[in-house]
Amino acid sequence: MRWKTALLALLSFHIHLFEDVLGSRGPDGYQWPIPYLSPFSQSLQLSWRGEWGLNAWPNVAITVGLLCVTFWLAWRRGFSPLEMISAKADGAFVRALRRRFPRPLSQ
Ligand SMILES: [Zn+2]
Repeated sequence: MRWKTALLALLSFHIHLFEDVLGSRGPDGYQWPIPYLSPFSQSLQLSWRGEWGLNAWPNVAITVGLLCVTFWLAWRRGFSPLEMISAKADGAFVRALRRRFPRPLSQ
């Protein structure tokens, strides 16, 4: 379980860096290079010439898509990321989702 947690943390960290390289260009056109080996070395700077702006439509589309997945998982499983903050808020959120989108009757 500890290895699974560590691997998932490592994976999520690298997905985050990947997304930073894809779409976090500043409004002035500045591309934020990712100093991958920092603070040990500045020799490896990750960037991509096609990087889109932080407020560009792909970031909005990805955000909306991931929110839909998060809501669907909360609806289906009965818990959401809110449980990390408040079990009461999480319960209210899941109840509201399930009231708004009731489960279809199985046949
Ligand atoms: Zn970032």
